[in-house]
Amino acid sequence: NANVWDSDPELWDLVQKEKRRQRSGLELIASENFTTMPVLQLLGSCLHNKYSEGLPGQRYYGGNEYIDQIELLAQKRSLEAFGLDPEKWGVNVQPYSGSPANFAVYTGLIGPHGRIMGLDLPDGGHLTHGFFTPTKKVSATSIFFESMPYKVDPQTGLLDYDKLLQTARLFKPKIIIAGMSCYSRALDYKKFREICDDVGAYLFSDMAHISGLVAAGVTATPFEHSDIVTTTTHKSLRGPRAAVIFFRKGLRTVNAKGEKVMYNFENKINQAVFPGLQGGPHNHAIAAIATAMKQTQTKEFVEYAKQIMVNASRLSDGLGKRGYKIVTGGTDLHLLLVDLRSVGLTGAQGEYILEEINIACNKNTVPGDKSALNPSGIRLGTPALTTRNLKEKDIDVVVDFIDRGLKLAKEIETVSGPSFVNFKKTIHENADVAKKVAALK
Ligand code: PLP
Repeated sequence: NANVWDSDPELWDLVQKEKRRQRSGLELIASENFTTMPVLQLLGSCLHNKYSEGLPGQRYYGGNEYIDQIELLAQKRSLEAFGLDPEKWGVNVQPYSGSPANFAVYTGLIGPHGRIMGLDLPDGGHLTHGFFTPTKKVSATSIFFESMPYKVDPQTGLLDYDKLLQTARLFKPKIIIAGMSCYSRALDYKKFREICDDVGAYLFSDMAHISGLVAAGVTATPFEHSDIVTTTTHKSLRGPRAAVIFFRKGLRTVNAKGEKVMYNFENKINQAVFPGLQGGPHNHAIAAIATAMKQTQTKEFVEYAKQIMVNASRLSDGLGKRGYKIVTGGTDLHLLLVDLRSVGLTGAQGEYILEEINIACNKNTVPGDKSALNPSGIRLGTPALTTRNLKEKDIDVVVDFIDRGLKLAKEIETVSGPSFVNFKKTIHENADVAKKVAALK
C-alpha cells in the first residue's frame, strides 16, 4: 500500500511533469477544464472499488446500499442542475464518457442502420455524430447507422437550417442531432424541433461543450425542444470525465404530421446503456458527477459561466482587431474558430508554434477547407483559463501572446517554405529561429 511516488517513481515523475505543463502553460483547448478538488477526491475514492451493474434498487451485485444512494443523488442533482421536472425528465448517469453516451442513444432509439443526421465533423460536429469520409466510415456511428451529415454555409460559416430541412425531407432520418464541438454560435433548438417534426425525427441535443453555460442559464437551453439530451460532464461543466443522458419520461408523440407513434425513452435508454453497451458503472465518476452538478447551482458557478463567455468574446474581438478572421465573425459561446488563411498560415503551423510557446489549442477545419487532413484554422476556448481566474485584461495579454506567436510562425514560414516538416525542422535546427521561439516561451 505504498504511495505511488514510492511504488512507481518513474510514472509519478511523468505525472509531475504533466502537472507542471498544465500549470505553466495557457490552456485554450475548448473541451478541457481544470476540475475541482472535490471532484478529484471522489474520483480517487473507495467508490472506485465497487461493482454495481444495474440501476439503484435493481443490482446484479450485493453491497450496494450506499452506491444506490449516491447514484440516486447524482440523478436528482443532474435534473436540478438543468431545472428539470422529475415527472417529465429522467436521467441515466452511468455512461463512461460522451462517445458511449451518444452511441447508447442511437442503439436505444433506432435499430441497426437507422438513419441519423448530425453536423459534419469538418463543419464543427463531433465524430460520434456520424462522421465518414469518401473512402472510409471513420466513426462506429457511421458504420452501424446510416449517416447523412448536414453542413454550415461555406461563406458565412453559419448553420444552414433551410438546407438541413431540404436534405432531411429527402433522407428521412430517425434522429437529428443538434450539437457541436466547434461552432461558435448558439443553436436554434426551436428550428431544429420544427425540422424534426416535419420529417418525423427525434431531436437529440448533444450539449457536451456548452452544458456548463446551460446549467448556469447564460445560453439557450436545449431541453424545451429536445427528446433526448446528452452531455459530457468534464468540459464547461467542470466535473469528472463522464457523461449523462437525459430523456423525456413516459410516452411521447414525436410525429407532428399525424402519425401518432409512441415511444418509451426511459427503458430504451437505460437498457441501451446497460446491458446494451456497458457493464459496471464507474461509481467514483458518478459521485463526482453528483458533486459537480451541485457546484453548478452556486452563484460562483453562474459568474464563472458568464466570465467564460465574456473572455471568449474578448479573445475573439482582440484577435479580430489584429487582422485575424474569426469564423462567423465572433462567438456567442465559449469558443471561437480562427481562420489562419487570413494570415497565410495553416492550422498545423498555428497549433505547433503556439504549443512551442506553451499555449495549448488545436488545429481545426474551417468552412470551405478542401481536406480535413490539412485544416486551416485553430479552435480556441476559454473554460479552462476562466477557471484559472483570467479576466478581460488578462485575455488582452493572451491575445498579444498568440499574435506574437503567429507572427513568428509567418516569419519562420518564409525561411522553411510551406512544408510542415520543414517548418518544424526550422524551429528546432535553425539557431536564430530557435532563439526567437525561446524568447516567447
Ligand atoms: N459530443 C461532443 C459534442 C463532443 O465535443 C465530445 C468530445 O469532445 C463528445 C461528444 C465525446 O466525448 P468523450 O470524449 O468523452 O467521449
